[in-house]
Amino acid sequence: MLGRAGVEASLLCNGIGSDTDCSGGAASWETAGGMIMVAAHKRGLFCDLYPRMVSEKNTAMQHMLLHRIPADCCLQRDILGIYGDAPAAYQYIYEQPDFRSRLSAGQALPIVDYIDCLSHDRPCPLRNGSGSRIIGWPCQDFSVAGNQLMLEGPQTPVAISVGRKAQASPVPLACVECTSKMPLSLPSDCFGPRYVDWAPFYSAPADVNCDFIRRDRHP
Ligand SMILES: [Zn+2]
Repeated sequence: MLGRAGVEASLLCNGIGSDTDCSGGAASWETAGGMIMVAAHKRGLFCDLYPRMVSEKNTAMQHMLLHRIPADCCLQRDILGIYGDAPAAYQYIYEQPDFRSRLSAGQALPIVDYIDCLSHDRPCPLRNGSGSRIIGWPCQDFSVAGNQLMLEGPQTPVAISVGRKAQASPVPLACVECTSKMPLSLPSDCFGPRYVDWAPFYSAPADVNCDFIRRDRHP
């Protein structure tokens, strides 16, 4: 999904790079980033997606990323680390009785000014002035191959924390990559009123000549 101001605002991204939360080893970064670039180029614009900060929880993916990202790119170990103690924040948010309560809890929790950066082995600023934010939040709660618990699933604290970070470190362009089963209200709710005009964009593997990776799906 392309966020507010969509492609036109991507002009603002020139020279200031991009953040990627829940990178999936950079899979979402490359998929969604490619969509942004294509959309920008179609309008004669250039969008700078030079990576400034990546967040990735999986340790194997973290090690892979350390070999792939530029030396000056920060690597946040866990998006819920914006709250300081990531496991405690997850537990606090998820133990709320429903999605609305979890959203309120995640919005109200104080956040840190410096994240635990694996790239530089020291605290690095949460707010880095990036021009865009690309998110690949987990799809297990929505995918037909997942648990289909939707907004009541165990991954909602991740989406809520992504939105909280996006509010604290706002960007002119945000892009969320997920399954088409994700409720379209989720990015709006999590990112808040600063981010408007969310536009869905659906793409299948065949659209990019990768149909050979398609899994059987049962609607
Ligand atoms: Zn850093």
